[in-house]
Amino acid sequence: MKNDFNNAEWRFFVTALKEEARDVLWKVGSTADPETLVKSVMQDLQDLAPRPEDIETRTQEEVWVQVRSRLLKAAYETRQYCIKCGECCVKGSPTLEIEDMRLFESGRLGPKDVYTIRKGEIVFDNVHEQSLINDVERIKIRETEAEKSCIFYQKWNRECSIYNDRPVQCRAQECWNPNRQDFSGEGRPLNRKDLFESTGEIWKVIQKHEDECSQEIFSREIARLGATKGQTVQKIIELLSWDDHVREFIREKIRVGPDVLDLFFGRPLKDFLEYFGLTVDQNNDETFTLRPLTNLELEKKADHSV
Ligand code: SF4
Repeated sequence: MKNDFNNAEWRFFVTALKEEARDVLWKVGSTADPETLVKSVMQDLQDLAPRPEDIETRTQEEVWVQVRSRLLKAAYETRQYCIKCGECCVKGSPTLEIEDMRLFESGRLGPKDVYTIRKGEIVFDNVHEQSLINDVERIKIRETEAEKSCIFYQKWNRECSIYNDRPVQCRAQECWNPNRQDFSGEGRPLNRKDLFESTGEIWKVIQKHEDECSQEIFSREIARLGATKGQTVQKIIELLSWDDHVREFIREKIRVGPDVLDLFFGRPLKDFLEYFGLTVDQNNDETFTLRPLTNLELEKKADHSV
């Protein structure tokens, strides 16, 4: 590839590479030498270098995205340990595995720190930036409202406040390892049965709630709305009312806040209506009215999701 360049172009490219290498090494917290890094992957970088104009199909920007990605992979290879950069923590929080039960037993995690993602629930995967249907019930550490980073990530010093007791998923990330597999949960996901089966009454209410208004029943009824031209709207209102009623009942009975209710019953069903372009109004007599989101409401939600 070098032969396709004149000497000035080649020198310019190599200088730019060293600058880029300096930047990615700093980013991954490695003390390796930028020049050595560039040399170690020179063959690959030569293949990625800009080609003569008549055969180049990539934009300048695309060339440098590829170059940077190769340098980043090489930079991670120069430091084989976690430096607590917090990169994984700002992308979201971990879901827990059965092994993480010990964190509840030791008091490191409490009910307010986590919530339930129920089976069949629509979730947003921050890492791959796509919406998914959750396949099995999971317990997840809460995320901050605004940035959606893990609640244990301390922005001021870029550290995890429970680092020595961090969950299995955080330990398994190995973000510095370019050959790692995406963590897909090798152990069994922790669920509400693990946490509450021994509580007796609470566990019974959780099970009853799941039987009456699971996410799967909810999605099925929403899907039927179109097919029945809205005639099944009452069934959805019943599900929303049931969900609301159980939360209110438990909130009053054992005096817990909404965050703990999200662990007992998952997030409120009404929070998921927006995925289907719907919303619900609560009337003075405590009944619900289901209606489509207005254009203004849709715009506001789009603004908040950016
Ligand atoms: S628990 Fe700690 S290591 Fe895990 S995502 Fe949260 S801040 Fe990061």
